[in-house]
Amino acid sequence: MENLLTDETKMFQQMMHRFCEKEIKPVAGEIDEKEEYPSEILAKLAEMGVGGILAPEQYGGSGLGWVGACIAMEELARVSAAAALAVGATSFYFAYPILVAGSEEQKEKYVTAAAYGEKTGTLALTESGSGPDIAKIETTAETKGDSLVLKGSKMSVINADNADEMLVFARMTNNGQPGDFVLVAVDSKSPGIVIRKVPKMGMSAVATCEVDFNEVEVAKEAVIASGMESLKLITNALDCFRLVFGAVSIGILQGAFEEALSYSQSRMAFGKPICAFQAVGFYLADMYKMGRVARNMIYQAAFKADQGLDISLDAQVAKLYASESCMWVADRSLQIHGGYGFSVEYPISRFFREARLMEVGEGTSETLKETILVRLGLQT
Ligand SMILES: Cc1cc2nc3c(=O)[nH]c(=O)nc-3n(C[C@H](O)[C@H](O)[C@H](O)COP(=O)(O)OP(=O)(O)OC[C@H]3O[C@@H](n4cnc5c(N)ncnc54)[C@H](O)[C@@H]3O)c2cc1C
Repeated sequence: MENLLTDETKMFQQMMHRFCEKEIKPVAGEIDEKEEYPSEILAKLAEMGVGGILAPEQYGGSGLGWVGACIAMEELARVSAAAALAVGATSFYFAYPILVAGSEEQKEKYVTAAAYGEKTGTLALTESGSGPDIAKIETTAETKGDSLVLKGSKMSVINADNADEMLVFARMTNNGQPGDFVLVAVDSKSPGIVIRKVPKMGMSAVATCEVDFNEVEVAKEAVIASGMESLKLITNALDCFRLVFGAVSIGILQGAFEEALSYSQSRMAFGKPICAFQAVGFYLADMYKMGRVARNMIYQAAFKADQGLDISLDAQVAKLYASESCMWVADRSLQIHGGYGFSVEYPISRFFREARLMEVGEGTSETLKETILVRLGLQT
């Protein structure tokens, strides 16, 4: 993986690592416990260029591409996966589709503002009836003069309560043609939007929300993409978001591994540190192995994405491996902590809860395996 980094991305990695150690690690447990949105941390990260990591300089970005994005996510998640998701909601979910398909004015308005930390955002895609099958969405957009009127309900929208804007994926009602979708940027304070936080078991410093759109009027000029192009845009973006989730998985994995390593060196049993028992040592060796493999897979795919190559299969396989490894490592790290692992006073309990999301978000393990079966020609 080291070979894939340039001097610039290496420097960025070192800067992120130092910042996360100094500014986030000491408060990560507290923001989780108090479910406190990390706004001060996000402001500092924006100053460091994390908000515009994918955007070129002309839109205020640092242009470090998907490799840079994965570095940021990995380093953040190593100390606080909630902070990683809070950044990712704006920098990737919101800004990336606009960067790819938006007009110049839209890029100026949204991408530049996100890069400077002046606007936060998210993506409202998932619905209770559609899940990963995004073409089955039921939220509708109806033309009314120069506006669209949105009706429907989205679930599991990360950061919605703190987002200035949301990208909403909807189905046009007017001509009813299959594939007539639209992706539109919506001001979250628009009349008719109702946001409800849904409490969750981890990463609670950044909320996940249900969002209702009750006849929400939005100017047509906020349309980012429409028709099959918008479906394709979202489908391709999801592959890249899987890389980001894979990088978050590696970060959590690494954090949980480091906790296991240090605990196993200090905890004595039967007159020696528990890492000296081969059963424990083998867990540590497997954790290390999985971290290395997952990291290589994710960064290889990120590198390919930055070359403009098709990453669909690479991203899905890498995300699947990284997320399942992350869960295994968090679980074994907890085991190494013995009874203390089950208490909430050690960081491992937070890593364990964070790890559990990784096999669900951005493609459940089962749906990713289905895709592999299709690639193997075992299913259509
Ligand atoms: C914390 C969190 C944050 C999220 N953030 C966002 C966000 O910001 N924006 C957004 O739009 N969405 C977001 N999501 C939604 C997330 O992407 C979905 O939860 C995920 O796609 C799974 O969809 P679902 O919950 O409807 O599960 P379902 O599709 O109902 O799946 C339930 C079970 O059925 C299995 N299953 C479903 N289909 C298949 C299949 N074809 N083959 C085999 N098994 C299958 C699944 O693997 C799973 O085990 C978030 C979710 C969470 C938990």
